[in-house]
Amino acid sequence: MRLSHERREELLPLLDRSHGPTPEAIQAAHRDLRVPKAEIWSTASFYSLFKLPSPAIGVCQGLSCQLKGADAWAQTLKDQGSAVARVSCLGQCDRAPAAIQKSADHSLSPHYITDHVPPAPISPGELAIHLGGEDDLSYAALHLARTRGPDQVVQALENSGLQGRGGAGFPAAFKWNAVRNQSEPERYVVCNADEGEPGTFKDRDVILRRPHLLLEGLAIAAYTVGARDILIYVRGEFVEERRSLEQALTQAAPHLEDFSFQLVSGHGAYICGEETALLESLEGRRGMPRLKPPYPTEAGFRQKPTLINNVETLACVPAILTRGGEWFKSLGRSEAGTKLYCLSGHVQHPGVYELPLGVTLNELVATAGGFDGTPKAFSPGGASSGFLPMRYADTPLDFGSLAKLGSMLGSAGVVVLNDTVKMPEAALSQSIFFEDESCGQCAPCRIGTQLVKRAAETFTQSQNATHLQHIDEIGWQMEEGSICGLGMVAAKPLQNAMHYFPDEFQGDHPTPSERPS
Ligand code: SF4
Repeated sequence: MRLSHERREELLPLLDRSHGPTPEAIQAAHRDLRVPKAEIWSTASFYSLFKLPSPAIGVCQGLSCQLKGADAWAQTLKDQGSAVARVSCLGQCDRAPAAIQKSADHSLSPHYITDHVPPAPISPGELAIHLGGEDDLSYAALHLARTRGPDQVVQALENSGLQGRGGAGFPAAFKWNAVRNQSEPERYVVCNADEGEPGTFKDRDVILRRPHLLLEGLAIAAYTVGARDILIYVRGEFVEERRSLEQALTQAAPHLEDFSFQLVSGHGAYICGEETALLESLEGRRGMPRLKPPYPTEAGFRQKPTLINNVETLACVPAILTRGGEWFKSLGRSEAGTKLYCLSGHVQHPGVYELPLGVTLNELVATAGGFDGTPKAFSPGGASSGFLPMRYADTPLDFGSLAKLGSMLGSAGVVVLNDTVKMPEAALSQSIFFEDESCGQCAPCRIGTQLVKRAAETFTQSQNATHLQHIDEIGWQMEEGSICGLGMVAAKPLQNAMHYFPDEFQGDHPTPSERPS
């Protein structure tokens, strides 16, 4: 029996309200939604928040938290009698080490040691977002959009040169036009607030500190592409962030009455940050990426044209409308606009810094009070970007320049490692993340992430480099045979580390660099 879209979409919220896939919840979902029990269990088992025991403390095992003593902290919590689980990056890298606490009543609350909110490093007049600024509750940019009409809105976006801030850097105007130009009248706007790339926590700050910028950007987007329904998919671990959005929606209600906003919580799956996996999750299924084409702009949510944008992308839109596309473009150095850079690891003041797109690592870290110790390597755009040595510290941190180095800006989650860090261990940390988060539907990714992790683990434990000999070949197969970005980049941290720091990968057996060509 085929389910209506709306019914199936209720599955994950129902399990949420029931505190996970309990026998009673499965029975209720089967009865009310007509979903087979095996399928309910299969869907629920995909999501890590349903699997986190209750009560328990989930200590982040992301790289930035490991650099700041997460392993020792987890052990201390265990010794004190807490139930401790290890979880993927929680998006609190500036507050590392971080954890999430699941109470006996199944409620979630963040748990971290430090909190530092950095001041704006440059003049507020030169910032598109300005995290420390005041929200404009008049929604002037939305009213301006309505006065000018959709054509002029898209023109301003095109003039701005705004590239999507979720990681791919795709021109925003192109996506908006693609949805606008569909013949199907039923359209949707979806906000991707499922930030989960290790080292990345900028969308969190936008939602907490400038929620109205996001809501206004969403309303302008929906008005422009002709949609009424707006869905915000918020990371399940973002408890305070969801509250911030709920409060902002209440405050802004008079301006937003033409639209229907829906907040949807994620359930703990990094892969749902991939836009088609996010759509699957919104529709009540496992968050597994879809084959493309068709792209979401043509067949997205409920198979209807859907505009999916990242939080930061949308938050840039009000300033582009009020101050002009050319103004936004001029803010950037090597590419258009300002960028929210997330900085963590071995620096004096980790945090989110809004700077011209194209600043260098050295400039970014200078803004944050300098390095902590002697810097050795950095990851410029989250785990997916691998590692670079410090000789690239004066390379512009932008989409194009980093791509030329075989790396990427991604979501600009910049993590700095000093000379106390062993690169094999750093690469292992990232490999564990990718193995945990692979959705498993492509064999090259499913098997490759296991092989990469095993190779890094074996080497760090025994200095046995046997498995490292095949990493480049495995990485190539993953890149060629995976259907989404996760599988394509999952071998990069180990490959880059071996390439740039070969001395640290000399073991009992030859590494690829030692093999005869
Ligand atoms: Fe899933 Fe990996 Fe395939 Fe992406 S590449 S769809 S994460 S198995």
